[in-house]
Amino acid sequence: MHEFDLIARIRARAALRGDVVLGIGDDCALLAPPPGMQLAVTMDTLNAGVHFPPETAPADIGWKALAVNLSDLAAMGADPAWCTLSLSLPEASEDFIDGFSDGFLSLAQQHDVALIGGDTTRGPLSISVTAHGLIEPDSALRRAGAQVGDAIWVSGTLGDAAGALRQWQAGAPMAPALQARLDRPTPRVALGRALRGIASSAIDISDGLLADLAHVCRASGVGARLDARALPSSAALRQAFDAATCLALQASGGDDYELCFTAPAAQRDVIHALSQTLNLPLTHIGEIVTGTGVCCEDVDVAAAGYQHFA
Ligand code: ADP
Ligand code: MG
Repeated sequence: MHEFDLIARIRARAALRGDVVLGIGDDCALLAPPPGMQLAVTMDTLNAGVHFPPETAPADIGWKALAVNLSDLAAMGADPAWCTLSLSLPEASEDFIDGFSDGFLSLAQQHDVALIGGDTTRGPLSISVTAHGLIEPDSALRRAGAQVGDAIWVSGTLGDAAGALRQWQAGAPMAPALQARLDRPTPRVALGRALRGIASSAIDISDGLLADLAHVCRASGVGARLDARALPSSAALRQAFDAATCLALQASGGDDYELCFTAPAAQRDVIHALSQTLNLPLTHIGEIVTGTGVCCEDVDVAAAGYQHFA
């Protein structure tokens, strides 16, 4: 297969939106953003063997490549609109492209995101996606807004994706519920949208709770105190690991793509109601305090977080 056949295969299945004036096929896409809205733009790359096990199913790779970008839009409270896709492939495989498109485009459809262009080259398996979202001026959730006295919240459960990775690294079969969290993270788009005007800051958890919350603290000029016993865990995680390992995975494991956000204490009931509406656990896990850094008793904070080149 030729590069253009691969592109045609993707293009044939990519859905459009009314604000896409010109999609895949020309030198640029043309877009008509609604007047007065700001664009939120983000990019993430997945490299085989670094961001996913090499034997990951193509459909899961496609899903995850878009999901991690939608998660960044969610963390800002933006409404996803468009994306571009840069694909580096070792060989022009029809099966890979079709599987990849299944995962990528099914998630795109769920969030009404149009794939509007990209680039296709030969090389080691690597996928870069840029996602564009829309947001009203001054309403984005930023890392810099946390205030002393705010409550710290997290969505869903923590540590599941890292638990799957731990099993895979040990050569053990991955527990299906944990593997699903690693391969098919759920970007918390509806939550991010709903938190506009409620949360004082937000971040998505890609590198681990402690590491990502530390970014919020740095940007906001505050400290955080976490209650280790409050961190939410899934039954699957508790079944697979002892209590100490669970806690380490919850505090420091990456790849869950849950949202960690802060909000004034007075928003407590509003957030509980939101949890009901979205059918998504939202757990109060600590407080913003004066000072710097994240403190969490019983957890080795210094060992937290994944860093490339570390
Ligand atoms: P150019 O050489 O002008 O950059 P390309 O031949 O790379 O154009 O791409 C042709 C069209 O196909 C462009 O509209 C481009 O955005 C799109 N495209 C290329 N690769 C992809 C891809 N992996 N996914 C979606 N669109 C793609
Ligand atoms: Mg090109």
